[in-house]
Amino acid sequence: MESEIMNVLLVHAHPEPHSLNGSLAHFTVQHLQHSGHGVQVSDLYAMQWKATLDTGDDLAFRAGEHFDPSANSKRAYDTGMQSADITHEQEKLRWADAVILQFPLWWFSMPAILKGWIDRVYACGFAYGVGEHSDTHWGDRYGEGLLSGKRAMLVITAGGWASHYAPRGINGAMDDILFPIQHGILFYPGFDVLPPHVIYRTGKIDDAGFEQVRKELGQRLDTLGTTTPIAFRKQNAGDYNIPELTLRTDLAPGETGLGIHVRQDPA
Ligand code: FAD
Repeated sequence: MESEIMNVLLVHAHPEPHSLNGSLAHFTVQHLQHSGHGVQVSDLYAMQWKATLDTGDDLAFRAGEHFDPSANSKRAYDTGMQSADITHEQEKLRWADAVILQFPLWWFSMPAILKGWIDRVYACGFAYGVGEHSDTHWGDRYGEGLLSGKRAMLVITAGGWASHYAPRGINGAMDDILFPIQHGILFYPGFDVLPPHVIYRTGKIDDAGFEQVRKELGQRLDTLGTTTPIAFRKQNAGDYNIPELTLRTDLAPGETGLGIHVRQDPA
């Protein structure tokens, strides 16, 4: 099935435009535009994105005040006093129907500049601290929130082999390594999270391999609007005890670990 026309935001992080990541970001923009999608790009190194969340993010902050990262973030968000670069990225997120985060796996996670984009753009009142908090509703998060209804997908390059990241691989299963990003960063503010697209063993990619990599990425881009999201359990849909926020004992009985937060019987 063809994807409907969407607004797609590509956020990518690599210091070298002619790297594999730079080439794939360029390919992604061309491919999506050729398919008729609207595309915006946040090329974090090219933008010289400021990665550190600090007092400069709240334009109303005065020297000598105590800086509280969450409280100042909320005040700045609520009063229109956020640093302009933060507001601009939030507007791109509001515009997008789908968001792609593309990066090389660095130390089993994202490059620091991208983490800094999350830390600063995900303001209190925007990506967290949203919705009613009560004994029965612990905020709008994990499947609800301002970014619900939008899709998100990780496109990652990794030096290691696929087998190193298999369920019994020494690096740990890729699903587990990506859980903090896919569940904690993307599902938390409401995104429907698509299965990741991981390109392994990057050191061995030659010209023929690069063509194959582009072909497989193109297929994922063509199905951005139709791929079934990961069946993460929604916080407020009845699967969790609230306010403990533990999974009900009759669901995945006796099991523990990150996998219990994914439904095995998607509705
Ligand atoms: P590049 O080095 O730019 O390119 C990779 C290959 O693709 C090269 O062979 C190149 O010839 C080819 N290529 C690039 N562009 C083209 C093109 N246009 N046409 C044809 N061929 C092309 N790996 C892990 O698995 N786990 C980790 O935790 C991890 N941590 C790391 C931490 C750091 C700080 C660093 C620097 C690396 C780490 N790595 C890790 C490896 C890292 O994930 C890979 O080096 C990275 O994903 C490769 O992406 P790149 O864009 O830098 O590729």
